[in-house]
Amino acid sequence: MSKQTAYVWHKDNLQQATAGRWHQPPVDIRATRIITDTRQIIAGDVFLAICGERFDAHDFVATAKQNGAVAAIVEREVECDIPQLVVADSRLALGHLGKFRRDQHTDLTVVALTGSSGKTTTKEMLGSILGQIAPTLITRGNLNNDLGVPMMLLELTDEHRFLVVELGANHVGEIAYTAGLVRPDVAMVLNIGTAHLGEFGGRENIAKAKAEIYSALTEQGVAVLPFADEFYEELSAAAKQFTQRTISFGERSVPLKTANLAKADYEMLSLQGVETVQMMGDVFADEVEALTTHSCFDLVLNPDIDTLQSLPVRLPFIGEHNVANAQAAAAAAVALGIDLPTIVQGLTNATPPKGRLTRVAFGNHSLLDDTYNANPTSMLTAASVLEAEQGIKILVMGDIFELGDASVDEHTKLGEKIATLAIDHVLTVGTHMAHTTQAINRHKMIAKHYADKPNLLIDLQNLLKAGQATVLFKGSRGMAMESLIADLTAC
Ligand code: ATP
Ligand code: UDP
Ligand code: MG
Repeated sequence: MSKQTAYVWHKDNLQQATAGRWHQPPVDIRATRIITDTRQIIAGDVFLAICGERFDAHDFVATAKQNGAVAAIVEREVECDIPQLVVADSRLALGHLGKFRRDQHTDLTVVALTGSSGKTTTKEMLGSILGQIAPTLITRGNLNNDLGVPMMLLELTDEHRFLVVELGANHVGEIAYTAGLVRPDVAMVLNIGTAHLGEFGGRENIAKAKAEIYSALTEQGVAVLPFADEFYEELSAAAKQFTQRTISFGERSVPLKTANLAKADYEMLSLQGVETVQMMGDVFADEVEALTTHSCFDLVLNPDIDTLQSLPVRLPFIGEHNVANAQAAAAAAVALGIDLPTIVQGLTNATPPKGRLTRVAFGNHSLLDDTYNANPTSMLTAASVLEAEQGIKILVMGDIFELGDASVDEHTKLGEKIATLAIDHVLTVGTHMAHTTQAINRHKMIAKHYADKPNLLIDLQNLLKAGQATVLFKGSRGMAMESLIADLTAC
């Protein structure tokens, strides 16, 4: 297949990829886009009809035709004069089409990453590193599920040399499916937290679900492992079923007895009465300084994988968790053989995605916008960032969703932890946040729960009159906490 035509869809490769059956076969089509939403159709596109929660897109095939679609992929024939490729399941057909496209790009290098927090951020950092070297496609926004991942694969063109995809998991088996479409050359788990605890019923199961990413590695593929994570050993064992090539990032303290040390070192430390030792992964950060506008650290390659190399990084991201994300991005780049100066340059030029702990100036106040989403781990991480600020510290929180039966417990535990931080005021909204508020106030009366956002906003505006303040906004996506920032700054 020539370079220009690798990503053109026609009658035969559509049929071949989906194992579908043409009803009213087209004479000829040459489409470059397969689109699932009629509102995005332009002339020449193929429309793929998915049955969703609100709409059955088979009702929109005629609209797709009016908007210029040249063919439709459907689960059942519909009354419409348009070539229709009938498939058993259009969601799976989208997956097959994405995989077909990916498999045609034999000279493409693919990185897939998952984890409870930090996927989108790390993906941006890695995109910034790889984009310096060659055309790189990275997941747009948050397209990380069984529909979003194939949609991203369908955006590949012959120009791309690198692909970085984010894989999300709401249930066991989802990552095995999406990773199987993507077939990564480098597969990475960032961390195991408590996101979607409800669906999984335990962190062990979350770890198992994330480890599925390693099962789809290409031959010679590299597994990237979070050395600092509590589940490092489990993830490492899971990865080693599929590859012997692993790279770890981060550092952690390990009991001397289980540390993998030379006999002489072990004996010397043991004689000195040392009980735990700090162990370093293959890529780690040293001399970390998390500042209010950025972070500084030395990025170090452990001599175990190469000669010891270290370079200073000025990372334009706030919070120590982003230093962890930067180490992860660096480890994936090391797995691809990219040199340290190029990695450092890419990290220096990376930009934080919107709503992930970005700072907005408001008069002499600072607003920290972390409204994109929340889980208990990321809520606490963000609260610790606020704690390090100057002036009056105000935490504005909305509910955390998708915690299932653990919701009351998790919201209460969160409150207990937040009560230990040096924060001056906590303002909350959402039914679950009532538990967090009560838990904080059992320790110190700094929290207030509101029935709605307008009432919260009135009190927040009054608090801001007391002096220079930093306000952190955070909650689950469904809480749309960014509307508070918009309303506050519009006043
Ligand atoms: P989603 O599952 O919603 O796609 P994600 O994994 O892509 O999320 P990001 O969008 O990068 O994560 O970050 C979301 C929030 O998680 C950030 O705003 C920050 O509060 C927190 N976060 C990011 N990285 C980490 C990390 N390494 N550890 C803990 N919390 C983090
Ligand atoms: N859809 C469309 N045109 C419309 C409205 C919806 O093509 O005017 C498509 C949409 O892109 C999706 C499908 O119909 O692929 C189902 O829509 P729904 O909103 O129910 O999807 P969900 O909520 O499951 O994402
Ligand atoms: Mg994301």
